[in-house]
Amino acid sequence: MNILVINSGSSSVKYQLVDMPSERVLTRGVAERIGEAESRLVHRWRIPGGEWQDMQRDEPLADHHDAFRLIGTAMQETGAMPTAGLAGIGHRVVHGGERFREPALIAPDVVAAIRDMSPLAPLHNPPNLTGIEVCLEQFPELPQVAVFDTAFHQSMPAHAYRYALPEHWYSEHRVRRYGFHGTSHHYVAEQTAAHLQRPLGELNLITLHLGNGASAAAIRAGRSVDTSMGFTPLEGLMMGTRCGDIDPAILFYMSRETGASPASLEDALNKDSGLKGICGENDMRTTRELADAGDARAQLAVGMYCYRIRKYIGAYCAVLGRLDALVFTAGIGENSPEIRAQVCSGLEALGITLDTGRNHRQDDGIIEIQQAAAPVGVLVVPTNEEIEIARQTISCIETISSR
Ligand code: AMP
Repeated sequence: MNILVINSGSSSVKYQLVDMPSERVLTRGVAERIGEAESRLVHRWRIPGGEWQDMQRDEPLADHHDAFRLIGTAMQETGAMPTAGLAGIGHRVVHGGERFREPALIAPDVVAAIRDMSPLAPLHNPPNLTGIEVCLEQFPELPQVAVFDTAFHQSMPAHAYRYALPEHWYSEHRVRRYGFHGTSHHYVAEQTAAHLQRPLGELNLITLHLGNGASAAAIRAGRSVDTSMGFTPLEGLMMGTRCGDIDPAILFYMSRETGASPASLEDALNKDSGLKGICGENDMRTTRELADAGDARAQLAVGMYCYRIRKYIGAYCAVLGRLDALVFTAGIGENSPEIRAQVCSGLEALGITLDTGRNHRQDDGIIEIQQAAAPVGVLVVPTNEEIEIARQTISCIETISSR
């Protein structure tokens, strides 16, 4: 059974064709710079024998219709289109608001609800919706499922998701903590449970998604009970270019001092802050190289980055009461033993102790990096949001068809 997973952004469409339930990726690619002069498609597919083959097409892609047409052509020409047809399409949708706690089979009311959520995620929901609309036109007979980045965190209790702000900001304007990266937090929690051979419903976890964007989640008995991103992905941990937690009064002060407009302040917090704000580099690899070479600003950036994660770990230990495992994932979490070590240093009182040798092991799969007798597991679990979307798409289609 093949599921096509689509992540439709404002200027790109990423896709993966996944065989289920084997979870083997058959084809993947990206149509990039849609609407720009130098648009192109990069398409990878497996040839018989399992080797990957690459193809690049530099073609004008005026809009998402052009992108999907070229993806379809590339799939046909490279023999990547499944002969038995597709079982369904899973779409990544960033914001599901309070309505979507689960993936949803796409129907007119679901499309309308995603549109209604667009003011909450103006950069993401509209292009996500464009992808859905083009696929509905091109594959009207196929079941299509929306998988929401916010859905996993809808299990948070009100005391975690409400801000201490005027009631009508919430009731009329929907201002609350939603949380993001939910598909990734959910996936690594499931993988952790499978690896530990324990039911997810018995586990208390802190999951750390540390990529360009970064967030932490407190997961009790398999359900998210708190997360560091909030109304938008700007809150919480320090990120590549996003500030994470700040005193909101800084904005009013800077506006008074410099006359900066709301839009320019928003840009500064999203694009010029985080690691970049502190040391001029947004990429952790480069930042660490600079820090190792003695650059004081880069050392401060790395120190702040790890310190803030430690604060969240402490807070979420208090939220959970008992912690079974701390899970590192995404680009930095999976690939930087140095950041993992710096994050965990000083957390021995919480039962978190790393084994240096295990932490530096190069391994593609899941690794446990805590010391042998440590009471809390520390795991590196590669994330895979596309596989999680494929899993949820199948599960949603099967649930609906069994009714
Ligand atoms: P992602 O958004 O998950 O692709 O993660 C991107 C981030 O991972 C960037 O900041 C990269 O510099 C970082 N990253 C990838 N590999 C490494 C590594 N070996 N050491 C440190 N950071 C890394």
